[in-house]
Amino acid sequence: MSVNQSLKPITTTYKEHLFIGGCDTVELAKKYGTPLYVIDEATLRGICKDYKNAFKEYKNIRMMYASKALCTSAIVRILDEEGFGFDTVSAGEIYTVYKSGVDMSKVLFNGNNKSKKEIELALDLNVGRFSVDNFYEAELLNQIANQKNKKVDILLRITPGIECHTHEYIQTGQIDSKFGFDLNTIDSIIELIINQYKNLNLRGIHAHIGSQIFELQSFYDEVEILIKELSRINKKYNLNLDEMNIGGGLGVKYTEKDTPPNVKDLADAITRAMHKYLADIPTIYIEPGRSIISTSGVTLYTVGSSKTVNINGKTKRYIAVDGGMADNPRPSMYQAEYVAEGINIEKLAQKPKEVVTIAGRYCESGDILINEIEMPHLEPDDIICVYNTGAYNYSMASNYNRVEKNAMVLVNNSQSDIIVNRESLEDLISHDSIPDRLRK
Ligand SMILES: *Cc1c(COP(=O)(O)O)cnc(C)c1O
Repeated sequence: MSVNQSLKPITTTYKEHLFIGGCDTVELAKKYGTPLYVIDEATLRGICKDYKNAFKEYKNIRMMYASKALCTSAIVRILDEEGFGFDTVSAGEIYTVYKSGVDMSKVLFNGNNKSKKEIELALDLNVGRFSVDNFYEAELLNQIANQKNKKVDILLRITPGIECHTHEYIQTGQIDSKFGFDLNTIDSIIELIINQYKNLNLRGIHAHIGSQIFELQSFYDEVEILIKELSRINKKYNLNLDEMNIGGGLGVKYTEKDTPPNVKDLADAITRAMHKYLADIPTIYIEPGRSIISTSGVTLYTVGSSKTVNINGKTKRYIAVDGGMADNPRPSMYQAEYVAEGINIEKLAQKPKEVVTIAGRYCESGDILINEIEMPHLEPDDIICVYNTGAYNYSMASNYNRVEKNAMVLVNNSQSDIIVNRESLEDLISHDSIPDRLRK
């Protein structure tokens, strides 16, 4: 089993309370307040080791963590220690990675609309690879690199025309996608690079077919398409491109229904496709995000109000917690499902069970964290733990309703450390400015 197949952090244990990373979650909630993001370091390092072991035989592998899943300085330090490079999509991510002391040649800059300022920053910091997404960007990048007298190593982002079974908003490989060059336009961009864009140094191709993928066949098909494309391009233009970036996308287990594949089986699918077609294996980049960080993260919330409604003779109980769509937008954005449990294990074991809907505190009817889950009877001040919130929670968080963003703690060997401070009310107004004529 690899870590992404676990619903909970691998250090989760039950005593009188729920423990993660050797820390009593009741104590964590008391010390740091709720809502609280908790990241378990052993789980994070565990999945890194799963990836490294799975691809051990494969010398030309470059593992890049897709930082958009969760990018904070301490997380970057851990991934850097584990030997990962970084897939980044903004100046903010590039800057975070840079300030955390990462060797910038291990960083790739990706995105469908990089701004001039972001391109300049990436060039000034000598980011290792650019993934060029479209014609406009190729021209712009060439021009800025020219002004800076630099030659940039690039990959071309392509859409391989694969539809995988995941939510439509997180599918990216199909032809009708906002990302990348489709297979009909790739020759035109290559010709422009060869003939005109002298500051671009084409190294290979890049694709990313989607997220939360469970079918290994999709990865196999993707690799097959990329290999064929790379060989076709090399032959037609007499090039020697030897880099293939196959993106991220491996799924995780949010609920018992989810059956993500083992990382080892992912590695085997990729390697099988390679060996079928190639004698000389190119450099392969993989960019897992969700499967690296999701399982290590949980969120603690405190229960407040509740409400029971009667619909056609059936009662439904809503439990409201102190967070919701601003710290975890995924349920309201794409009906993502989560599992939760009370952390006061001994006390709650005595309570009758009931089916409840866990609602957030934000002013939107759609702010429901979990629809219909069986829980022990919860009362105000009880604390619940929502699992698998490491990826695309904090990184998608907002200040909706002008609520301070949560703190994040890292737990390991019974020790807890703050890695993101809770925002204060002063933080919230710190970027505001009042024109003189409005001052009181
Ligand atoms: C989002 C993204 C990833 C990471 O996807 P996960 O599903 O989180 O693994 C990797 N590569 C690219 C280009 C992406 O846009």
